[in-house]
Amino acid sequence: MRYIGHGGKEIVERVIPSPSEARERIKGLTRVSISGRCARECIDIAYGFFTPLEGFMGKADVEAVCEKMTLVNGTLWSIPIVFDIANEEIREKGIKEGDTILLSYQSRALAILEVEEIFNYNRVKMEQAVLGTTDIKHPGARMFNELKDTFISGKVTLVNTPKFNPPFDKFWYTPRQLREKFAEKGWKRVVAHQTRNVPHSGHEWLMKGAWFSANGELPVEKLQTGILVSCIIGPKRRGDYIDEAIALCHQRLHEARYFRNDIHMVSIVLWDMRYAGPKEAIFHAILRGNLGCTHHMFGRDHAGVGSYYAPYDAHRIFDQIPEGSLNIKPVRILEWWYCPICGEVTYSGLCGHSQEKQDFSGTMIRSMVQDKVRPTKLIFRPEVFDKLMECADKYGFGSPFCTEEYLSKRQPVFELPPL
Ligand SMILES: [Zn+2]
Repeated sequence: MRYIGHGGKEIVERVIPSPSEARERIKGLTRVSISGRCARECIDIAYGFFTPLEGFMGKADVEAVCEKMTLVNGTLWSIPIVFDIANEEIREKGIKEGDTILLSYQSRALAILEVEEIFNYNRVKMEQAVLGTTDIKHPGARMFNELKDTFISGKVTLVNTPKFNPPFDKFWYTPRQLREKFAEKGWKRVVAHQTRNVPHSGHEWLMKGAWFSANGELPVEKLQTGILVSCIIGPKRRGDYIDEAIALCHQRLHEARYFRNDIHMVSIVLWDMRYAGPKEAIFHAILRGNLGCTHHMFGRDHAGVGSYYAPYDAHRIFDQIPEGSLNIKPVRILEWWYCPICGEVTYSGLCGHSQEKQDFSGTMIRSMVQDKVRPTKLIFRPEVFDKLMECADKYGFGSPFCTEEYLSKRQPVFELPPL
């Protein structure tokens, strides 16, 4: 089946499925061991999450992304996808343009990279362009600063297929598999909800609002609009909700029928957040467009951090891009809150009691969860709370939040089989 992704290009697939063929292809290749971020991005590239990219970017594309927010060919693109390597390693291993190298992750073969260009680029310039700041306190800036000094561009082909460990195996779909799934479900429209959180009722209402918005004028006798919960799986920091709980608690919302299970599904995507606010919102739209979503929900301070971006910067950037540059529509959402006068959870664009409103406080909910105190069901579903506690015991060494113990002992999200 032909599936068209970002930039009007067919969804990229660069995977050698046969281990014997893969073994043949990697014979004698120079081996370079790569970071978790790089491994996740190789997998994303090879399965088409980053369509039209077929590999890591060259200097001209990086330059265009930083200066014009496009690739060289004019396709909208907001975050450079680069392969970084120490100059020393290039010298020691004698890597040169035209070579093919083997990328290994955790001592297992993952992908081959056809070296097109070896180049340098100013990391500070990249940081400033993507994040709008070079402040070292910004977690995205730290990521850019940790990049090694030289970059290699070139096409990536996966030679090994990642095996996702439970519970992630149930939530892992490639862009092609997701599109098949949507077709099976009869979804004509799909609205993406990007998350790194266990859902409270505020999140539930964001999804409900986005569903109405995406469904729009479609007939309602037969529902043809779905919600794709797309959980970001990447590096974790102490205090984040554990990955297992994020996916399983979202899943619990439809098991408990707060969402019909024919209009809601949960999936994961591998991505290391840059916290780039508006630029990252554009990137998330591109990514979910490649998954087959037709709409993407953007709430307050999407992909932001601290006070680097104004609360609705990630909404406004969609007014600044040329029409037709995205195949997915942004659904821009203000805030849901609890209003004691209305006596319900309501929307800031509707309720006039802004003096009396009570915001959903993530901090307050987290501290209740931490103390294992069940919040009222108006703000946190009891089924989700129970699932969260179950996940804490089963996966979190007793805690629903990442601890040192979890970070050092957790089962990896995916593993590579020996080749
Ligand atoms: Zn009200």
